[in-house]
Amino acid sequence: MKSGDARVGIPDRNFTGTDHTIMDSVFHPETQHQDVGAKVVAALERLVHLFRHLVWNEAKAHGLSPIQVRVLIYLLVHDPSRCRVGHLAREFQVTQPTVSDAVAALVAKGFVTKRPFPADQRVSLLQLTPAGRALAERLAGWANALKAHVDALPPERRRELMLALMELIASLQRAGLITVARMCLTCRFFQLDRFPAREAPHYCLLMERPLAITDLRLDCPDQKPAA
Ligand code: SF4
Repeated sequence: MKSGDARVGIPDRNFTGTDHTIMDSVFHPETQHQDVGAKVVAALERLVHLFRHLVWNEAKAHGLSPIQVRVLIYLLVHDPSRCRVGHLAREFQVTQPTVSDAVAALVAKGFVTKRPFPADQRVSLLQLTPAGRALAERLAGWANALKAHVDALPPERRRELMLALMELIASLQRAGLITVARMCLTCRFFQLDRFPAREAPHYCLLMERPLAITDLRLDCPDQKPAA
């Protein structure tokens, strides 16, 4: 087994290039069979397809594109100061023109309006119209069918899954593959295992309170990335 083989946990190959064989692929059944990491990645890929399928169905039912659905839901649940094209582009990991096109279509449909950002007149703040809000509230439930399946897991497995996914996202964020994740695990105010023996072992320096595993946040408005 080579030192760079993902099966020994030291990936050193550029999988975006051509320096790999079909046996290196997490989608190859034999590789998957021998490698828990490959099974996890392949399983996540299946979930990505499911997410795309569900969003696409929801979008089609309302005459929208998937990114228009995401814009509407984002505007519904985030602080107005974050509702700018640049923020959305970073959040969705797409270009600003892609978001601008989606926003222009939503403005034309009467679901979104723009108003100047007080601190910088060149920037627009995006806002839902009453019709946009009503539609976004209907659309925001598109993932609830998945949550019912997650909720069916025993509580301990659910917590482990949540933590494992957060750790994975934190790792991908440190590697620069995920641009925005306002999580405790990557926050400068987060202290890991400050009280290791307690039920709430972690600590938030901003709120000045201990955090249990279930208190860890995935999208905290006060998060500041660790240096
Ligand atoms: S500020 Fe928010 S993200 Fe940061 S540690 Fe506290 S609760 Fe977590």
